[in-house]
Amino acid sequence: MINGNTKLLCLLGSPVEHSFSPAMHNASFQKLGINASYMAFDVKPESLEQALKGLRTLNFVGANVTYPYKEHVMSYLDDIDPKAKEIGAVNTIVHKDGKLCGYNTDADGFIESFNRFQFELKNKKIAILGTGGAAKAVAVGLLYSNVKEVHVFSRNLEKATLFCNSLDYPNICPRTYDILDEDYPYDVIVNSTPLGMHPKIGHSIINSEIVGYNNTVFYDLIYNPQETEFLKNARLSGRRTINGLDMLIYQGIYALRRWFDFDQTKWTRDDVEDILKESQII
Ligand code: NAP
Repeated sequence: MINGNTKLLCLLGSPVEHSFSPAMHNASFQKLGINASYMAFDVKPESLEQALKGLRTLNFVGANVTYPYKEHVMSYLDDIDPKAKEIGAVNTIVHKDGKLCGYNTDADGFIESFNRFQFELKNKKIAILGTGGAAKAVAVGLLYSNVKEVHVFSRNLEKATLFCNSLDYPNICPRTYDILDEDYPYDVIVNSTPLGMHPKIGHSIINSEIVGYNNTVFYDLIYNPQETEFLKNARLSGRRTINGLDMLIYQGIYALRRWFDFDQTKWTRDDVEDILKESQII
């Protein structure tokens, strides 16, 4: 029940109506017995700074940040976690001791989703398709996990080169899609493009022929639909697949851990999936 002690959290973005975060976090608070409430605020670009001041004034515990403010919000924070700095984007804010600190839990969420399958990322060769913000979080997460090599694919070599140069690692290099036809043996291929996402389902960045080792893992960051054309092609070719739901759930759990102390052994990915199902979100 909301009362005078209820802690406040929110999502800042535009648009925000489609977001799973309010339902996911409010249900989590209820199940975990945390007296908190999470709202979604559609913030106009000219009001972002004011919104951040509002978090301070109203003593919010924290916030999530979504499109289109993950980069822009960084200029209004007191402190930024090194990983978020490398990614160049913040999706979680913690308000503590009068300071707003920014984190990026997308990278942690992506990496955590491999642990569920006991998949060891160390020394693996990875292909990332796309050069947007999600791809950057994925790349930084992978580079922190000591993978052997990351190849970043773009429709434009210059764009992929800029992306790789923005990260200070020797083992990341730019590629264009023609090389994917050469059956390069990647251990994991990550679709970080929006191709195949609702409502434009049925599109895939890799069309019919699935490349890679027989045991290549195909990972699509998209969670709606749960099986994209990219994942369907991979599954039909007998490959392992992971969709974006795990990353979504784990980034939420990581944010929750940043905001509140709770016994994390009592709060799992499956608990959150159950909540999403109960709320008919998935
Ligand atoms: P974005 O910036 O819109 O696009 C990412 C990249 O995809 C672009 O930079 C572009 O790279 C490539 N691309 C875009 N349209 C394309 C097309 N028609 N054909 C080929 N390539 C295309 O997206 P984003 O914010 O990085 O997000 C990417 C995906 O990840 C989205 O589907 C998003 O929903 C999903 N996501 C999921 C989670 C999760 O928790 N599961 C979190 C964040 C994002 P080039 O121009 O270099 O080719």
